[in-house]
Amino acid sequence: MANIIDGKVISAQIKDEVKEKVAKLKEEGREVCLAVIQVGDDPASTVYVGNKKKACEYCGIRSESYEIPGDTTEDELIALIEKLNADTAVNGILVQLPLPKHINEDRVIMSIDPAKDVDGFSVNSVGSLCIGRKGYRSCTPAGIIELLKRSNIEIAGKECVVIGRSNIVGKPMALMMLQENATVTITHSKTVDLPSVTRRADILIVAIGKPRMITSEYVKEGAVVIDVGIHRDENNKLCGDVDYADVAEKCSYITPVPGGVGPMTIAMLMHNCVEGA
Ligand code: NAD
Repeated sequence: MANIIDGKVISAQIKDEVKEKVAKLKEEGREVCLAVIQVGDDPASTVYVGNKKKACEYCGIRSESYEIPGDTTEDELIALIEKLNADTAVNGILVQLPLPKHINEDRVIMSIDPAKDVDGFSVNSVGSLCIGRKGYRSCTPAGIIELLKRSNIEIAGKECVVIGRSNIVGKPMALMMLQENATVTITHSKTVDLPSVTRRADILIVAIGKPRMITSEYVKEGAVVIDVGIHRDENNKLCGDVDYADVAEKCSYITPVPGGVGPMTIAMLMHNCVEGA
């Protein structure tokens, strides 16, 4: 049976480290402040935004909340972002995604000052990751790197397969594993014979968005399996992209859902806020 990588414990450690740094900055008379913008009232977004505000409170980061109507125009939203860009008291700006259909997400993300892009989604942040420069790292993949490192799992020289090529998980994940000197393969919906590729992986990172798709057939004996997916199954139970019960029999380490990758995303957001300050 696999060792469980406990994202709750590791994310709590990171938040405590952030809390300490925030307290030190406060002693120097500096405050850390995150502006959180939510457009409309999508219930899932409301939960995510609420959790981010709670984490800020825990870490001693001041959060400014902008809950604006769903019919806000793209120009109005960008005007708000520009106001926050110019506000020297604000260190980080987060726009909760997805945005309503009439708003161009790319244009909105691009309008955030790269120095305040704590989500790490801007072209500037992704570009700096790509060429190995300092910059904000996308929170979910950065959290996975922390999970691996803090579980003493060797990355350098290992064969890593990432399933999924989204801009917020798959692609930055592959780049971060490359930066840690893994040999990286990215797979996606057009990959032919996926199991034959994924069975090469010493570290398999799964970000597909399909409940329990990855069974033991996709996994090499003794591999490390990281499950990014999050879903509710037919019994309203949370599950990931990995068939946990089946895969845990075969791998050496695994992240559970819930309690694996999920809590790391917010912890890394807090980390980015304090680094920004
Ligand atoms: P996405 O839908 O943007 O991307 C999914 C990727 O999977 C695509 O690149 C696609 O090519 C690939 N894919 C789809 N079907 C495939 C198949 N049959 N075989 C191989 N590849 C296939 O999703 P995303 O935003 O990257 O998120 C992935 C999952 O992670 C979702 O379940 C999402 O809810 C979850 N997620 C969790 C967190 C967290 O904090 N835990 C953060 C972001 C996303």
